Amino acid sequence: MQRRKPSEPSTLDELKSLAESAGYTVVGKVEQVRAPDPRYQVGYGKIKEIAELVKATGAQKIIFDNLLRPVQAYNIAKETGVEAIDRFQLILEIFARRASTTEAKLQIQLARLKYELTRAKEKVRLAKMGEQPGFMGLGAYEADVYYEAVKRQIQTIMEKLRKIRRKRLLHRERRAELGFPSISLAGYTNAGKSSLFMALTEEEVPIDNALFTTLSTTTRLVKFSRKKFLLTDTVGFIDRLPITLIEAFRSTLEETIYSDLILLVVDVSEPLATVEKKLKVCLETIDRIGASGIPIITALNKIDLISGDELQQKMDMLKDMAPKPVPISALYGLNLDQLKEEITRTLQSFARASFRLPMTDEAMSFISWLFNRADVQKIEYAGNEAYVVFEAVSWFVEKVVSCVKELGGKIESFQN
Ligand code: GDP
Ligand code: MG
Repeated sequence: MQRRKPSEPSTLDELKSLAESAGYTVVGKVEQVRAPDPRYQVGYGKIKEIAELVKATGAQKIIFDNLLRPVQAYNIAKETGVEAIDRFQLILEIFARRASTTEAKLQIQLARLKYELTRAKEKVRLAKMGEQPGFMGLGAYEADVYYEAVKRQIQTIMEKLRKIRRKRLLHRERRAELGFPSISLAGYTNAGKSSLFMALTEEEVPIDNALFTTLSTTTRLVKFSRKKFLLTDTVGFIDRLPITLIEAFRSTLEETIYSDLILLVVDVSEPLATVEKKLKVCLETIDRIGASGIPIITALNKIDLISGDELQQKMDMLKDMAPKPVPISALYGLNLDQLKEEITRTLQSFARASFRLPMTDEAMSFISWLFNRADVQKIEYAGNEAYVVFEAVSWFVEKVVSCVKELGGKIESFQN
């Protein structure tokens, strides 16, 4: 649901994409062009219409693009029988789903509490002015107590965050845990990241449990051009991000910071000026989070929506701005082979090594660990020894080489 002024653009498509990122299935869209109504945000007639739609579709929630005041959310729920949330709460839900580290989870809890605090104030004020005595079950006294409790929780979380920051996991350490080169999708909401993610993960490779638990829920192990990669779908960049969510947003970018390659998805069917603006903001954001050293491939998506001429023109205009541009259609699977080739070419720092290792219990578990994290091409057991040939990104091969030496093994070959 969006209420907007005639001069404001419709952002319902973006809202739909955000809702899907949060795991919702969208069953209907409603829009109204008028000034806000203090009781329901939209007009009373519109609320009746929405209530009908809720009944007809069996919808379980109404998501507003507009910020809802507590009293409005309350009134809407009363009229329609289902919960109403706003864009702010929706974005919080998305972040919460994606948060994989303690720090990210705390950041999100903090943002939620701060949001609660601004609402608690309204509840306190309403209760005190006697406008709505016992509003949502809160008397003046309880509201004050509630307000103070939220404030105390905020203090506790900020203290925890300060402690965590002191012992942040090093970039390199986290990568070494994973072994496979990792690719993360970036770009604005609605650019087609999740569609591309689905198109590229068609050939998913099963993953062992130990590795699985260290990965976020939106990461898959994929294989193309005979190489295995970890691919992560991300929240991406959100237009008009509420200021109080910026810190929480940063913590969702960890996947991007830790990756070996950024696949930047841009909707090239939009007007050139929009494409340029969004691309610029994306590149700036990547730079600001300290990820500018990571190679970038730009996927110019949705080429099915424009003519060949238009695409050519846009590509000419973007060639100095977009790193390694590849035109594709994620939805129709156009040109994905070229994209995969570009990815393998960019990540070509693969090295190959072979070693002999005396078989001990330790050596056995080391080999099974390696098996799950690198492309093991050969294992032969002869006498009391194992002979292993494998391929991985160079820094990982170096790590393995030093482990082998520690376990009393011998490196037979090492090609960079
Ligand atoms: P995300 O927000 O970046 O994850 O974007 P989604 O993958 O959810 O896609 C947003 C919308 O664009 C969806 O309605 C997709 O069906 C649509 N879409 C994605 N890729 C393409 C494409 O190549 N062509 C067309 N025509 N639509 C696409
Ligand atoms: Mg998505």
